[in-house]
Amino acid sequence: MRIRRITLHHISLRLRSPFVTSYGAHTDRETIVVEAEDENGVTGWGECVAFAEPSYTEETVVTAWHMMERFLIPSLFGADIGHPRETALLFAKVKRNQMAKAGLETAVWDLHARLHGMPLARAIGGTRTEIESGVAVGLQPSAGQLHAAIERYLNDGYKRVKVKIKPGHDVALIRGIRERFPDLALMADANSAYTLEDAAHLAQLDRYGLMMIEQPLAADDIIDHARLQQQLATPICLDESLITAEDVRKALSLGSCRVVNVKIGRVGGWSEAIRIHDLCLARGVPLWCGGMLETGIGRAHNIALASLPGFTLPGDISASSRYWERDIVFPEVTVRDGKIAVSAEPGIGYEVDRDYLQKVTLHRQTFTGSDFA
Ligand code: MG
Repeated sequence: MRIRRITLHHISLRLRSPFVTSYGAHTDRETIVVEAEDENGVTGWGECVAFAEPSYTEETVVTAWHMMERFLIPSLFGADIGHPRETALLFAKVKRNQMAKAGLETAVWDLHARLHGMPLARAIGGTRTEIESGVAVGLQPSAGQLHAAIERYLNDGYKRVKVKIKPGHDVALIRGIRERFPDLALMADANSAYTLEDAAHLAQLDRYGLMMIEQPLAADDIIDHARLQQQLATPICLDESLITAEDVRKALSLGSCRVVNVKIGRVGGWSEAIRIHDLCLARGVPLWCGGMLETGIGRAHNIALASLPGFTLPGDISASSRYWERDIVFPEVTVRDGKIAVSAEPGIGYEVDRDYLQKVTLHRQTFTGSDFA
């Protein structure tokens, strides 16, 4: 496979309702849609999930665009790519910038699967025909609004709910949900809002039967998380702290977490995501797929990821309608009875709505091999 053309689409989509975490609020989602075209005009689609601000990681839409344009895209041109896993090797000379790499790498994987007439889920070794869907609920202005939101999602069929917590909005918030929804499969994501000094406070959550607490401590920490896990009965799941399979190996050997959240963008693409999957599967560590407020393109890649056998917990993969009035793919991603069908169509299994994509585009640029000759 030879990549002839890469087009980056910087888009902005209005969220149906603001999404609030301990990092701040999102009302619109800016993102970069990546289109990779081979020498015969076949196209693959990827998504760079960096946000407009460096709140979740250090990357932003603008830094990712720069890294892709200046360093990553040129290395794709001229290469004869036998298998998409070679893309990660082409990018290895660039340090970090995982989301920029993953944006391009996911497009190359989709292209590869389409060229072979194969669903992406099968190309990566996925075995499920449907995946369980969970929903992430942001911080709400009041407990009443939070409970109403949860009620609505349960009526929509979601089987697992994740809520965001932060200091001042934690133990009482979880207790309130538990009283109202005693049997709900519930977990809490702190997005690094605590320190080890909060251990006794966080241990109060143990009595509410959470599936896990996600990323309570610093994004770059695995030491204090190990100490905290010793003081909590609730399993810790790491998200921000795990960038590579090596990070996962170290965290598991320290006992920093008992569950692993995988996001293709956070770990730099499919190759590393699969490596983390294989490691955790071999060690019996449960996995689930995290969400980054993706458009249908990133969402479709997530569905393929969750079809791998080690993804035994419902992820943050919900319907298009959870976030968007209108998605940029068709068909939309839909949830039935708490499940999403894994597409049997080639590639990501969804087509891009080019008219609508153009409508929501702020800036677009096409790169060809001759630009870098
Ligand atoms: Mg998280």
